[in-house]
Amino acid sequence: MRLEKKDILLIISVSLIYCSLSAGFSLISTVLPDKTALANPIERGSLNIKEITGHFLWGVVAATVTLQIRYILLGGTLAVLIDSDHLVGLLHVEGLPRMSHSIAFAIIATTILVIIFRKSDYYRLGAIIATSVLTHISYDAFDGEFGFPIFTPFMNKIIQFPKADWILFEIAAISILGIVSFASTRKRSEGKVVSI
Ligand SMILES: [Zn+2]
Repeated sequence: MRLEKKDILLIISVSLIYCSLSAGFSLISTVLPDKTALANPIERGSLNIKEITGHFLWGVVAATVTLQIRYILLGGTLAVLIDSDHLVGLLHVEGLPRMSHSIAFAIIATTILVIIFRKSDYYRLGAIIATSVLTHISYDAFDGEFGFPIFTPFMNKIIQFPKADWILFEIAAISILGIVSFASTRKRSEGKVVSI
């Protein structure tokens, strides 16, 4: 497993776009009917080394089944960067917390990034982006934060999960990544997918 220059370029470019998408998606909450005053994430201590390390680790562990270093590192990085949806909380405006911890964000980010990077192994890339939401929520639940607006912007209720559910989110991510990686490897061995 060697990390080449093209791998680093892919990781950086995907990460930058993903980070902007998550921050941008959080701003949608400023026009949603259920918006409320938000606590500043820095004052709340939400952005700390323990959380960053935890999210990275959860992402890396799940992405290991892709067997490719670029997707393993992306799995960890995206699971951290999804928290750029704290942006709305930093702006002192009304909104909804944790907007990107949702199905809508997973679909939007996966679709946009797969279109942009369609010349890469888009099977694995798409799976890494979609499951970054699962591994992220898994660690959040494990760490003691149990509520997320999963169905926003269609239903803006914070859905609560028991702490024990963290393992289900992680297993779901590992299963999806394992199945998609297997399918991608088969397709590539048939010569239908060209990787950059
Ligand atoms: Zn989070």
